[in-house]
Amino acid sequence: MVMGATHAVSGAVLGLAVAQVLPPDWGGPTSTAEAFTFAGVCAGAALLPDLDTNQSTVARSFGPASKALAGGIDEASLWFYRLTRGRKDPKRRGGHRTLTHTALFAISLAFGVSALVVKFGQPAIVGTLFVTLGLALRGLAGGWAAKYGWLAVTAVAAGLSMLVWNWYPDEVGSRALGVAVGLGCAVHCLGDAITKEGVPFLAPFVPWRGRRWWELRLPSMLSIRAGGTFERAVLGPVLTLAAVGLVLWALQGVPEALTDALGEIRGKS
Ligand SMILES: [Zn+2]
Repeated sequence: MVMGATHAVSGAVLGLAVAQVLPPDWGGPTSTAEAFTFAGVCAGAALLPDLDTNQSTVARSFGPASKALAGGIDEASLWFYRLTRGRKDPKRRGGHRTLTHTALFAISLAFGVSALVVKFGQPAIVGTLFVTLGLALRGLAGGWAAKYGWLAVTAVAAGLSMLVWNWYPDEVGSRALGVAVGLGCAVHCLGDAITKEGVPFLAPFVPWRGRRWWELRLPSMLSIRAGGTFERAVLGPVLTLAAVGLVLWALQGVPEALTDALGEIRGKS
């Protein structure tokens, strides 16, 4: 897999871009705060699939709670793998890189989160934001998170979520928040698929040569090495620049308001 930071930044880029184009009629974000929430959720969700083993860095995000959760998801994924595996799918001992790395999971979670947002409104939005921000912090600020530990990660994620809680308009926010979660999971799979290991993205629906859990990956010539030169020197900087550009795009209302204000001041003098 690519590095956690690459996963998180690619999620942020996708989230920022989709937040700008998703029509409000479909539950798309209608304010800058909502757009950033959407992007933050997408960035964190881009690490969520690795919550299927308690060995992963993201499993440490919320200390014992997320470790226990990851262990449970590992077991459930293994159970599902055994239930659905084809004749030629190999025997497995763990569930890592199975169920949470499929389109089935991304789509189910998207619908699940959207249903919660429609039913519970703001508390569901802030809850989703809290969990995904914790994961995003692990990915984006890995060194900081490792130094100060899971309590600091939890505190910062909680603080930021509370700020958003206060910002949000009273009516139900972006119903499409589930879309951000689903997109994050999908872009994680894409990130894993460009490295040599691949992901069983279409499992268990598309049998192929006796296997239902065959892995989608780039041909080895094109695939990149996780944490290698291409990721560090090209992919990482390009994604980061794209993220900065999209943040500025999302904030475009601010410069306009500034020039309007300046124009008014000039007009008066
Ligand atoms: Zn993964």
